[in-house]
Amino acid sequence: MRLHCLGTVGYHPNDDRHTSCYFLPESGILLDAGTGAFRLSPLIQTDTLNILLSHAHLDHTFGLTFLLDVLFEAQKRRGKPIEKLRIFGEQEKISAVETHLFHDLIFPAKLDAEWIAIDDQPEFTVEGVQVSWRPQDHPGGSVAYRMDWPDQRKRLVYATDTTGDTSEEHARWCEGADLLMHECYFRDDASEWALKTGHSWTSRVAEVTSLSKPKRLLLTHINPIEESDDPIDIEAIRRSVDAEVTLATDGLTLEF
Ligand SMILES: [Zn+2]
Ligand SMILES: [Zn+2]
Repeated sequence: MRLHCLGTVGYHPNDDRHTSCYFLPESGILLDAGTGAFRLSPLIQTDTLNILLSHAHLDHTFGLTFLLDVLFEAQKRRGKPIEKLRIFGEQEKISAVETHLFHDLIFPAKLDAEWIAIDDQPEFTVEGVQVSWRPQDHPGGSVAYRMDWPDQRKRLVYATDTTGDTSEEHARWCEGADLLMHECYFRDDASEWALKTGHSWTSRVAEVTSLSKPKRLLLTHINPIEESDDPIDIEAIRRSVDAEVTLATDGLTLEF
């Protein structure tokens, strides 16, 4: 499976990174729609585009307003339209996005999408991909998604905007993941602030990874004001986990 990193910071873009957005072209699944979504159109290869929203914060949803252009460009390239746009999320999050982000005074055009609430569906299928989700600790709440491709025997877990779930249930839910995408917004010196703002820090991510044992860890949702090459002390994580560890960067493509 191929994963494209279109936006890899939290909160706001910086010179090198846009906000949260990741794409799985073979399945037409977009994980969140931050500002990185403007990069999507050349990568679309399916007739349906499915967007899984972790929550409604702007660094995960603002790019939904770019989709008119993105889908128009994709149609021009493919010579045929994207037939269906589906947006999945918790009911109160998708209602907030529809009511506020797509309010006439904020964005004056309608998005022709099917909005699908996941609240009563702990598991559902998207284009043959089995999806399940778990609630996470974050202001207003967010969800982690687990995706399974049964015929390819691949498993991906996407956990962003969370303080990091160290429960046994979470570890069991993640078991056998080929790839764990986990946010790491802060270094250890800001762990208290991380707990207050609902984010993860270096040693917490190492702990979650040690418990859930993925083959590979991709660190996402980096703090945008940390512009050094190693914004989260990645070596400390590498030393304490038995997984290949990669820092997400915009434009990175990863096979898992
Ligand atoms: Zn965020
Ligand atoms: Zn958030």
